[in-house]
Amino acid sequence: MVIAGERVDGAAVREKELRYVLHPWSSQSKVDAPVMVGAKGCTLWDADGKEYLDFSSQLCNVHLGFQDQRVIDAIVAQAQRLCYVSPVYLSQPRARLAELIAEITPEDLNQSYFVVGGSEANEAAIQLARLATGRTKIISFYRGYHGATYGAHSVSGGTNRHAAGLGIPGVVHVLEQDADKVDQIIQLEGPNSVAAIILEPIRVGDGVAMPPPGFLSGLREVCDRHGVLLIFDEIVTGFGRTGKWFACDHWNVVPDMMTLAKGLNSGYVALGAVVVRDRVATYFQENVIPFGFTNGGQPLAFAAAVAVIEALREDKLVERSARLGEVLLAELRRFQERHPSVGEVRGLGIMAGVELVKNRRTGEPLVSPLAPRNVATPSVLDGFKKHLLDNGLIAPIGGNVLRLYPPLCVSEEELHRGLRIVDEALVLTDALADPA
Ligand code: PLP
Repeated sequence: MVIAGERVDGAAVREKELRYVLHPWSSQSKVDAPVMVGAKGCTLWDADGKEYLDFSSQLCNVHLGFQDQRVIDAIVAQAQRLCYVSPVYLSQPRARLAELIAEITPEDLNQSYFVVGGSEANEAAIQLARLATGRTKIISFYRGYHGATYGAHSVSGGTNRHAAGLGIPGVVHVLEQDADKVDQIIQLEGPNSVAAIILEPIRVGDGVAMPPPGFLSGLREVCDRHGVLLIFDEIVTGFGRTGKWFACDHWNVVPDMMTLAKGLNSGYVALGAVVVRDRVATYFQENVIPFGFTNGGQPLAFAAAVAVIEALREDKLVERSARLGEVLLAELRRFQERHPSVGEVRGLGIMAGVELVKNRRTGEPLVSPLAPRNVATPSVLDGFKKHLLDNGLIAPIGGNVLRLYPPLCVSEEELHRGLRIVDEALVLTDALADPA
């Protein structure tokens, strides 16, 4: 394929990739992905010119859509002015971005600490919480996910975290999403030793697991009672994905710290942030933050993120996510009527999880929901996955849950086109399921 006057030889790229690159989430002999060369909006195309409708937003991060000219222009303008300055120096794009984040996050989540991505945001949040409270233990949840660096993996709760070995000390994992149980655990651990609880308000990686009623507000009360900081990881759920700016806005629960990445930069230039409430920020007025990141002050990333947030606002994409999300969920619930392999359908905003089950009555899954996150392993769902990709739809499957989260700019026509491909592919999983 010819891109900007240059021919991209897909076979040659593949050959070099396999020879010189170590690929994430895969054993190297199993790497088998298209060579992507271009994209626009919700569509990507590969070196053979084949088009793909992206219902994954890649890693649920390209909220705004691909190649938005407003963001490209902002990056180019900033590149011509100043590509890099140490985070020690003050800069116009960082000031503007922090101001925008304070505007769109709830209540007094007002001050941001910037890092390179989501994992680093959670690393920083853990350390800031330990410093601000003078306590060390962190409570987190099995089946949650917070990133692939050592600390972030340690507080994650899926099997991928075994890569971090024993992990960082002082992490206490909880299985149930139950505020009373968490309260008991804090008492058993000793309230004066617990710095923070970290969790995703909606566990998207865990098949779009929604919080049980009263859970988030219950945790808020427990944290207030024991002086424990509440950290919401809104890395996936932030920036309009759920139909509000942040998932916590649906439950009116305000955390003490919120971690951000993904939609914040929509994949344009890597960036993450920890935004903290005034009472946490106050501690650091006179106490030093003793760490920083060389690339935690990239003006290119700040300029891109400012343009992303302004574009989300200008195109009213948060409202659009809420509206089209209802269309998405309604359509998927109709699938339940004609596909015996469709179990529970969950979601909020333009983000849905579809359980693929062997038996809808018992809920028996087609494959284990505990399968490692993102890791490609041979599965009875391989034919289903192949059908989606062959027909030009990118949609991730984690465990037994098909996940659908297109960019927020998806058109209604694109949404229905993608869903038709899913509808056709479900015939293959129906063949593996017991009759309804
Ligand atoms: N937190 C959540 C909820 C995530 O889903 C992810 C990535 O998928 C991360 C943190 C880590 O972010 P990153 O991959 O940018 O380090």
